[in-house]
Amino acid sequence: MTRAVIFDFGGTLAQTKTPWDTVCNRIAERLEYMDIDVDPVDLEEAVKETIEYRYQRHTLGLELDSYQFFNHALEKLGHNVPVDVTDELEQMVYDEGYTSFVDNLEETLMTLSEDYMLALLSNSWLEAPRQALRDHGYGRWFKAMVCSYDIGIPKPDPRIFRHTIDLLGVHQSEAVMVGDSLEADIKGALAAGLQAVLVDDGFSQWSGPKIMELSTLPGLLRTLDV
Ligand SMILES: [Mg+2]
Repeated sequence: MTRAVIFDFGGTLAQTKTPWDTVCNRIAERLEYMDIDVDPVDLEEAVKETIEYRYQRHTLGLELDSYQFFNHALEKLGHNVPVDVTDELEQMVYDEGYTSFVDNLEETLMTLSEDYMLALLSNSWLEAPRQALRDHGYGRWFKAMVCSYDIGIPKPDPRIFRHTIDLLGVHQSEAVMVGDSLEADIKGALAAGLQAVLVDDGFSQWSGPKIMELSTLPGLLRTLDV
């Protein structure tokens, strides 16, 4: 019996994009107030290397937080900033970023919440997924919202799935993970003993339950529970 539905964020609930050139310009301006002189173009390069570094860490089951993320980038340029500053830089990423939620999200969450507890489980080094859900009024539908930086462990590590179902108070077999990443969301969830539904672009080889539109999830879940 399914009692909980756990959603990935990017590619599942929303499409997101970060214009790093704009963000790095703002960061460079902010750092000038601290007499830290960085070239925005160099900074953008260092950020892109840090994004790669972060993905390498994921293969070791490790996630960065925003303090570690920004300082990894800035250390390449010979600088280091305190956590109150990285909090400000993180907010710049959110303010300049684009988040476009999927169609009919409110109705889908409302329908699902009649039968299931809902949760977020996002691989994120910053607060943006939770902040976007709250700012758009969707936060009230979620009983738990987990970002991987909370515990320093990303999907597909089974520990973050267990952390999330513990917050919900459900058994692993009572939870369904819904996400667009076969590796992180689907294989991770199955390894942790959850069920899984792939949000599919129509091209995956995955033969398990899948949907192309989130709005079709309530109907699919009813068939899985039979
Ligand atoms: Mg995703």
